Amino acid sequence: MNLVFLGPPGAGKGTIASEAKNHFDIPHISTGDLFRSHIKGETELGQQVKAILAAGDLVPDSVTIEMVKQRLAESDAQKGFILDGFPRTVVQADALAEMKGLDAVINFVLDREQIVKRLSGRRVCKSTGKTYHIMYNPPKVEGIDDETGEALIQRDDDKPEAILNRLSVYEKQTEPLIAYYREKGLLIDIDAAPSPDVVLASLIKAVEK
Ligand code: AMP
Repeated sequence: MNLVFLGPPGAGKGTIASEAKNHFDIPHISTGDLFRSHIKGETELGQQVKAILAAGDLVPDSVTIEMVKQRLAESDAQKGFILDGFPRTVVQADALAEMKGLDAVINFVLDREQIVKRLSGRRVCKSTGKTYHIMYNPPKVEGIDDETGEALIQRDDDKPEAILNRLSVYEKQTEPLIAYYREKGLLIDIDAAPSPDVVLASLIKAVEK
């Protein structure tokens, strides 16, 4: 099963993908996670993209496409994949079409007010990447990761100025992909407002149909 998760930042793509990958037994490939792990490992690519991520801008297509091409060539991706956060531009979508066929593109639909609420309340454990929300999914002890006991942080790009920039980047560069994939008959709209278990159940039902 080759799936793409499309939708604005904060719509829950990563949260749902981390569950859906077990159901479909395919890897969850998040370009945001791949970039963040390069930044954490202080690789050359990490240094190149660090400021771009902090500002909420897009990494250049050529760099992103090359990284995805390498990831999709790995053995675990041959049985299928969930691409989360890629493609984000029409150039990337065209490049993906040359690499792989797709079974469905899931469009996570959420209004702007909800997006801002979700992003601004998101907190992350830096070492494991586990995410929480201060209201909807708080840790057992405020500000502390349940498993590691480490202090939770707010991603630089979840801070107010970057959130607004990410939304405008999404609207300009990524939203056109909704029409792009709808025309190809691949798009499935999913209401991303309910709780993750409800969203996951409707996604599985829609994909398996
Ligand atoms: P995400 O975790 O999906 O919100 O991605 C975090 C950041 O990584 C984005 O704001 C971009 O700076 C960068 N990024 C992730 N995926 C892409 C992509 N497909 N194209 C360009 N930049 C990306």
